[in-house]
Amino acid sequence: MTSARTVHPQPCVDHTRTVDAVAPVSGEHYFREALTLLPVGILMLDERGMMAMVNPQAHHLFGYEREELIGKPVELLVHGLGFQSNAGLWAEPFVIPQSRGRVPLDDLCARRKDGTELRVEIELNPFHFDGANVTLAFVIDKTDRYELRRQREDLAHLTRVSTMGQLASSLAHELNQPLTAILSNVQAAQRFMTADPIDLAELREILNDIVQDDYRASEVIRRIRAVVKKGDLDVIPLDLAAVVRDVVALVHSDAIVRGTRVTLDIDTALPLVRGDRVQLQQVMLNLLLNAFDAMADVPPVDRAVSVTLKSVDNGMVLAAVRDRGHGLTADKLDKIFKPFFTSKPQGLGLGLSISRSIIDMHRGRLWAENNDDRGATFYVALPAGDAMEEDESR
Ligand code: ADP
Repeated sequence: MTSARTVHPQPCVDHTRTVDAVAPVSGEHYFREALTLLPVGILMLDERGMMAMVNPQAHHLFGYEREELIGKPVELLVHGLGFQSNAGLWAEPFVIPQSRGRVPLDDLCARRKDGTELRVEIELNPFHFDGANVTLAFVIDKTDRYELRRQREDLAHLTRVSTMGQLASSLAHELNQPLTAILSNVQAAQRFMTADPIDLAELREILNDIVQDDYRASEVIRRIRAVVKKGDLDVIPLDLAAVVRDVVALVHSDAIVRGTRVTLDIDTALPLVRGDRVQLQQVMLNLLLNAFDAMADVPPVDRAVSVTLKSVDNGMVLAAVRDRGHGLTADKLDKIFKPFFTSKPQGLGLGLSISRSIIDMHRGRLWAENNDDRGATFYVALPAGDAMEEDESR
């Protein structure tokens, strides 16, 4: 059955016919033929959001027979389209004003007949057809792209965890310090408690020290958890300076173990960037650890990494990680960003390629240059403000 009230106001036109049914050779016939040829699923919705026509690509995509869909609400396939209507996209239920033009809806969750879910992108187009206002919904299956993104995120997570593995012993050491201090402070407090009279001022100071040490230990744990956390991409306005400070704090003990000084120089009025905190931390962590590695054979006195953050004229925020290591030969300048390129015996060769795809996804740029004197500088340029939009096609 179809919704005769809206899309089919004239009884002589039957919109429920299959697109390949015998039909008079008319403009409408050619229109229906054209819809079957297009390589995307297409649903024609009447003013109440009922499916008045579906092309074969659409009903195959959802695993239905055509007849099972005609006259049914589109919500059967795509949950949430009705909410878009409530949110004011539609002037009347499922009538998009012509003036509004096409309405793209990204990353919607749809459901096949067998109950499995798929990710789709839907573009709604207001259309005047046969005297009625209808909506043509182009449905694009994004399952593959979604799966690709999920795999990319899994890989990024795996390399983050493996990077943290490299830091494990220095972090354990860093964690041990406040724990040891807490233990000896508690022992001191126990001794003070046996005195008569009890020196309350001294006890108060000891308790304050314990609180501070506890805070230090939980900060180390917070930073570790922030990096190894696995979650969905969360793009928000970010203070890149805070991201960088966190990463520098995380590598602090590793830098000490390797005899490397790290300096930070951050512009005071740095604009926000839009990005995912964990992913940008991953990039900065990778650049810093690479810089440390590059200076392994440099005399300790020369082992220095400087991190600068500033805003530049073209509306970008520029982060630079500058080391005094062995630098890059001309052929390496580009090769190092390819997956699995590594010059380290234990290297995976994934850090820079993942970092570059993260920065690309943030509509930024990551590149390397040799310094005039010695070593290399890695630059990350990110658009300031709201310039980034998540683009899953990348
Ligand atoms: P990995 O660290 O596992 O080798 P990366 O993708 O992070 O993987 O780095 C790839 C290669 O790029 C490194 O093996 C190294 O040869 C080179 N490289 C990275 N950073 C630097 C640097 N700061 N100075 C010199 N070479 C570098």
